[in-house]
Amino acid sequence: MVSRTPSPRTLADWQARAAELSFESRAFIDDTFVAAESGDTFESRNPATGEVLAQVASCDEPDAARAVAAARQAFAGGEWARLAPGKRKKTLLRLADLMEAHKHELALLDTLDMGKPISSSLGDMAGAIGCIRYQAECIDKLYGEVAPTGEETLALVLREPIGVVAAIVPWNFPLMMTAWKIAPALAAGNSVILKPSEKSPLSALRLAQLAKEAGLPKGVFQVLPGFGHTVGKALALSHEVDCLAFTGSTAVGKQLMQYAGQSNLKRVYLECGGKSPNLVFADCKDLDRVASHAAAAIFHNQGEVCIAGSRLLVENTIRDDFVERVLKAAENMQPGDPLDPDSFMGAIVDEVQHRRILDYIRQGVEEGARLRSGGQALEGPGLFIPPTVFDGVTPQMTIGREEIFGPVLAVFGFDTEEEAVAMANDTPYGLAAGLWSQDIDRILRVTRRLQSGQVFVNNWAGGDQTMPFGGVKQSGNGRDKSHHSLEEYSELKSVWMSLTL
Ligand code: NAD
Repeated sequence: MVSRTPSPRTLADWQARAAELSFESRAFIDDTFVAAESGDTFESRNPATGEVLAQVASCDEPDAARAVAAARQAFAGGEWARLAPGKRKKTLLRLADLMEAHKHELALLDTLDMGKPISSSLGDMAGAIGCIRYQAECIDKLYGEVAPTGEETLALVLREPIGVVAAIVPWNFPLMMTAWKIAPALAAGNSVILKPSEKSPLSALRLAQLAKEAGLPKGVFQVLPGFGHTVGKALALSHEVDCLAFTGSTAVGKQLMQYAGQSNLKRVYLECGGKSPNLVFADCKDLDRVASHAAAAIFHNQGEVCIAGSRLLVENTIRDDFVERVLKAAENMQPGDPLDPDSFMGAIVDEVQHRRILDYIRQGVEEGARLRSGGQALEGPGLFIPPTVFDGVTPQMTIGREEIFGPVLAVFGFDTEEEAVAMANDTPYGLAAGLWSQDIDRILRVTRRLQSGQVFVNNWAGGDQTMPFGGVKQSGNGRDKSHHSLEEYSELKSVWMSLTL
């Protein structure tokens, strides 16, 4: 499906599109857009300008209860759960086509709502649409099993949907993180309740309109905007939710596991935070190229990326020279108007996050790291922080240990491969790690020893729909994307049939 309006290309084009936008701000429950039962709302604000975009329904326990009841009813009715996988596929492909036709609008919603550059939002749309297509295409190609038994028995291993899945997602890639959860969960036949972040609810509500248009049956996909401690917690504590699919901070991930234990032992899949090491060895030939990737690894999306390469570990023999190259690359990554297609970085999502990042920068200086660039917020309006580079960071420093979730790079030096691996693994997280080297033996050795859900060799953030995405240690226990994510949203049923009555 191709949109007939010309694609926006310039800042002026995007500004014109933004001026025409209208926002759906009500919850989507049981096939209907409704206010929260309490009538409460919260503000959605553009962090690049401070402008209030919409007053969004602030859902709470009663709204969660209504949505859960509708989801259960839909699941029991079987209109989606028992539909042939090939037919579910058709509906999901229709949804992907509708998203494609509205991709500029969806990208704009994310950019306005949370400040990311429009070029990055467009990339997210490709990722979100691709994920829905991939999972839709997978679902009618997955077979069950016939177990190897004697001939007096037929033993089947069947895959069935779980029931009601609550997807709780963050704000840094609002629609793409949503797609990574809902695509496999819906494809597998579950009823899905989505709770977007209170910092970026608008694209999820537009998605609900498109899902309805695509023909997802009543109660199969619902969206509850609101806060974590209200509606998020209500979903997590519900006895009628069978699975929580979460992307967000490690602290909230730990709370969700407690809620599951306090309620019905629902499955909990977590994609949490990171403090990812990026190892640069002196044998690299093209250091300018590596430096520019190392800078992009942390400054992309204002550093508000779970897999940000926030710890740069550089072999000491090239460290001073390499840091100069990173600083030079970072000069071209300054924040700008998020609607400008040439802006590499946009605005920080809100004042809380802005303050948090600046507090970490202050701590870095106080603890003795060498500030080499950035470090000060830009003058308003809007919440902008330039690329900030600290050299001489040690593993004991706060900025060397904690996830900042902002454009702050911590550079460490190492002398040996052994030391580099030990430093890389010296973290409670294990989401991503990168290494740059031209020595194949070293690449193979180090790749195996890095404690990380994914390892990028001579690139950062490589991957596509075919590759699972997730972490080890306190970065989580789930895997998004690839056919492995479908396994998380289905139950195995073993059927043992005696053939000798
Ligand atoms: P967050 O944990 O504050 O919030 C995530 C979601 O959880 C939001 O929708 C929020 O409303 C909800 N929530 C908060 N408290 C809750 C509670 N008590 N009960 C139920 N729900 C609750 O995280 P954030 O600030 O939105 O996102 C940033 C974090 O997300 C970072 O730590 C980042 O690393 C992580 N992240 C991880 C991945 C990944 O794939 N591993 C991807 C993106 C972001």
